[in-house]
Amino acid sequence: MSNVQHGVTGVADGTTKKVTIIGAGVAGLVAAYELEKRGHLVEIMEGSNRIGGRIYTHRFHSGPDAPLIELGAMRIPVKHRRTMQYVTKLGLADKVRTFNTLFSDTDSYCTTSAGHTRVRDAAKMLTTDFLRSLPDGRYSDDTILFGAWLTAIGDAIAPSDFRDSLRDDFRLELLELINQFDLSPFLRGDNRDRVDIHAFFAVHPEVRMSNNGRLNRFLDDILSETGPDLVRLGGGMDQIVRRLAGRIRGPISCGQEVVGIDSCDDHVTVAVRDGDHILARRCDYVLCTIPFSVLGRLRLTGLSEDKMAVIHDAKYWSATKVAFHCREPFWESDGISGGASFCGGSLRQTYYCPVEGDPAGGAALLASYTIGADADALGCLPANVRHALVLQELSKMHPELLHPGMVLDAVSLTWGQHWWSEGAACVRWGKDTRACERERRRATSPERRLFFAGEHCSSTTAWIEGAIESAVRAVHEIHFDQPRRLVPVGVPRLEVMTG
Ligand SMILES: Cc1cc2nc3c(=O)[nH]c(=O)nc-3n(C[C@H](O)[C@H](O)[C@H](O)COP(=O)(O)OP(=O)(O)OC[C@H]3O[C@@H](n4cnc5c(N)ncnc54)[C@H](O)[C@@H]3O)c2cc1C
Repeated sequence: MSNVQHGVTGVADGTTKKVTIIGAGVAGLVAAYELEKRGHLVEIMEGSNRIGGRIYTHRFHSGPDAPLIELGAMRIPVKHRRTMQYVTKLGLADKVRTFNTLFSDTDSYCTTSAGHTRVRDAAKMLTTDFLRSLPDGRYSDDTILFGAWLTAIGDAIAPSDFRDSLRDDFRLELLELINQFDLSPFLRGDNRDRVDIHAFFAVHPEVRMSNNGRLNRFLDDILSETGPDLVRLGGGMDQIVRRLAGRIRGPISCGQEVVGIDSCDDHVTVAVRDGDHILARRCDYVLCTIPFSVLGRLRLTGLSEDKMAVIHDAKYWSATKVAFHCREPFWESDGISGGASFCGGSLRQTYYCPVEGDPAGGAALLASYTIGADADALGCLPANVRHALVLQELSKMHPELLHPGMVLDAVSLTWGQHWWSEGAACVRWGKDTRACERERRRATSPERRLFFAGEHCSSTTAWIEGAIESAVRAVHEIHFDQPRRLVPVGVPRLEVMTG
């Protein structure tokens, strides 16, 4: 499906469509913006009391210099062309800053079987740990070093239920291939005991071609998450959604929870909760960007069996973020200038956020970022217990956290338990490329006047890029849809249903 190319105001075939968009996440907002550019009328119905969905910047106080934490999306790989184009289009290019990722600062920590070790000193222990799972003498020292670092990244990022199979894939599949290469050009550090894994895969993409699809999808994600070409937005990622919303003329209404959708021949009926009542709205066109994890619990009628199946079969993984507002960036006195540590245990990753405002306002620490079962384990605890557990575990690595007055506030978001997403992202790890593409097509195919977008309807799930890709595609489909019977543009009719 090609992207919409026109960039003109007005409608190619002279038909203005009225489109009701469900969800004010980045997919819904981009779709609204692009539809209006093509002369269509839009309205957005958002169930929660805020726009942005999984782009969620939390500010620890209301002042202009408030330390902030990204509870949702926090970085953009620069190769995500569509996202970067929107950043520029929305006048945010001057806010682009480097995002320092896991292990980018060699003074940060990495957890091995010997405990917390500085990244610059971790190679020996990581290699010793890795060697335990390997046959003697089969691989070169450099191959073992490569495997040890890749496993460390995988351990930090992958959910616990995936870590073992991933280690097997590395060991049984990747190492044989890696062993055939001269790795010396990719060794880094004074002791040449770190490996630039990203540079290796960039120079030898053929290694990726030979892997199974499951391993490749995982490599895509971990290479994207730990790559050298990541950026963030100074002042918060939510500027993307706030600027988009500011450019949309149609109404964006929060607190409009959709509880049912009925797809009919020439219209779509959307059931919206209004206090104790359910209002039925007759809409000409509907673009649904609700995550399938949520859509599956709605009352859906008039949809094909295949659409129902793909909605219910979609897999979502949880993510939990726990953040502290600290009196000061204590990690700087420990020699850490940014990036992230792998602290293992139930916390997994810890990110040191840059201080952008007045240092007197304190600093934000993303104390724990977990996904999958690790995220659910934290997610099912009461918030105060979760925060206390993270504080206690992380203080083993950073005892400064226990200094009186160091932690001023704590906040967390458990995406697996979040009413509006029931998961952090749709994941297709474990599936090969063909299976992923089949699932994407089934997810996106329209049901008469009902269209679908959202990261789950893209080839780049779990990223803003995927949400934008899906929105642009849906706009194209709606714009060129040839209605069997034209319905006059007007205010949707309201009916009161029992409920
Ligand atoms: C913890 C975490 C970290 C991430 N990190 C990154 C990152 O670093 N970089 C990156 O590019 N991406 C990242 N992502 C992914 C990225 O945030 C998402 O892919 C993207 O924001 C999804 O946008 P969307 O519009 O498809 O969905 P959403 O943002 O979920 O939007 C859907 C909207 O629908 C609303 N809604 C739900 N149910 C209803 C209902 N019944 N009625 C009405 N409205 C409803 C929701 O409230 C929401 O506003 C991360 C996501 C999470 C959770």
